Amino acid sequence: MSSPHILILGPPGAGKGTQSSRIAESFGVEHVTTGDALRANKDMDISDMDTEYDTPRAYMEAGDLVPDAVVNAIVEEALTSADGFVLDGYPRNMDQADELEDMTDLDVILSLSVGREELVDRLTGRRVCDDCGANFHVEFDQPEEAGVCDECGGELIQRDDDNEESVTNRLDVFDENTAPVIDHYRDHAGFVEIDGEQSPDGVWADIEAAIDEQV
Ligand code: ADP
Ligand code: ADP
Ligand code: ZN
Repeated sequence: MSSPHILILGPPGAGKGTQSSRIAESFGVEHVTTGDALRANKDMDISDMDTEYDTPRAYMEAGDLVPDAVVNAIVEEALTSADGFVLDGYPRNMDQADELEDMTDLDVILSLSVGREELVDRLTGRRVCDDCGANFHVEFDQPEEAGVCDECGGELIQRDDDNEESVTNRLDVFDENTAPVIDHYRDHAGFVEIDGEQSPDGVWADIEAAIDEQV
């Protein structure tokens, strides 16, 4: 198979973005991520979708899910134009999982598992490139020069929602809405659980082997 359809699941901070970049580069697939797509469209007008707030921003800053209709439309459009892909950040609840089932099939489903305490440390110390979106960490993945992106020289910033209050809420939202999605996929032939508490290189080695075996 030349262009695999890969889904990467896991709680906020599990390393989905970090590993998806490597998957995209190594397997020549497109990185489709709802988090980045929504961040680029934080102030788009969604009032015609009958939502509580008029833009994604308020949901995202609180760490709540943006309404399904908004996110489903983003993914549908992105997958239509992608050949192979690694999908990151979606589905986050069972209704989204049902939508995805109607959009495409999946070859590999990677589930990164990481404990809650480690997730809080990762998220509150995360720094992202304001230009290219690359991920760093103040302790676990330091850039060569503090505050500067290794990939493109852009400025590293802390996301608005990587504060303790929003992080706590996102982890609760995960337990309630997204953990059942992971359980739903456990029976899928392409499902592989990965120990996400290893070093980034250790996680990558397991992911690369899992994809090679499944496709
Ligand atoms: P993280 O990497 O910390 O898990 P993301 O960048 O994936 O965070 O998502 C950031 C925010 O964007 C979420 O807290 C949520 O508000 C919104 N979001 C992203 N993906 C989805 C989705 N599939 N459904 C609803 N909201 C989403
Ligand atoms: P997600 O997309 O699942 O929310 P990220 O890839 O953004 O997760 O990673 C969250 C934070 O943890 C980032 O600061 C990243 O540099 C760091 N990180 C990613 N993988 C690891 C790892 N295996 N060990 C330690 N820190 C990691
Ligand atoms: Zn950059």
